[in-house]
Amino acid sequence: MTAAPHPGVRTVILGRQGAGKGTQAQRLAALCLVPHISTGDMLRAAVREGTPLGLKAKEIMEAGDLVPDDVMIGIVDDRLREDDAERGWILDGFPRTVGQAEALGRITTDAPLDLVVDLVVDNEVVIDRISSRRTCDGCQTVYRADDPAIADGTCPKCGGTPRQRDDDQPEAIRRRLEIYERETAPLVDHYRGLGLLEEVDGLGTEDEVFDRLLAAVDHRTGVE
Ligand code: AMP
Repeated sequence: MTAAPHPGVRTVILGRQGAGKGTQAQRLAALCLVPHISTGDMLRAAVREGTPLGLKAKEIMEAGDLVPDDVMIGIVDDRLREDDAERGWILDGFPRTVGQAEALGRITTDAPLDLVVDLVVDNEVVIDRISSRRTCDGCQTVYRADDPAIADGTCPKCGGTPRQRDDDQPEAIRRRLEIYERETAPLVDHYRGLGLLEEVDGLGTEDEVFDRLLAAVDHRTGVE
């Protein structure tokens, strides 16, 4: 399928934890020449750096809970004002509540969203994916635990150590999925009502899912 550039798209990617949002959002951002803005990555960086935000978010994240809306809305508002976001962006992990979605609508009044993708994968599959997920503590690359490339316990890209994230432990996964159903799943209807929703089947290989994602973006942005 086409790998034509899609410059300047403004997209939100929704989906349960482990649906593949991060991987797909990163690829789409590279193709569209826009930043991939992951609020989870931003928070994890703040925790690593020990900033005031990181200190506030650390325990909340470890428990699998949500960081309060006002904090998240402030972070995203600031990030979308940066120069590199002027041409577009791929948002991953935000919005996660109806309050955040409404705030995003206000923040983007001048340059509104082109589409919202719901990457659909059911619970059983995501639980399996998350529990076998290992994230490099150096470059944040995500691997499967049984990937031969990390059999020696070292990340082949940067020499860091692939580890299980605290919030990928079974109890935190259960809690995060519960919160997803309660707080984030209603956003699917919210965006369907606004006529912005594209559902994309998240099962299959990374390339298969990416082709479906591109078809959804093409459909919305008019690129043939
Ligand atoms: P993620 O990598 O997107 O799964 O995010 C990891 C964790 O960061 C979540 O479980 C939340 O604790 C926190 N987080 C990330 N994005 C948000 C958001 N938009 N609202 C509230 N908490 C968030």
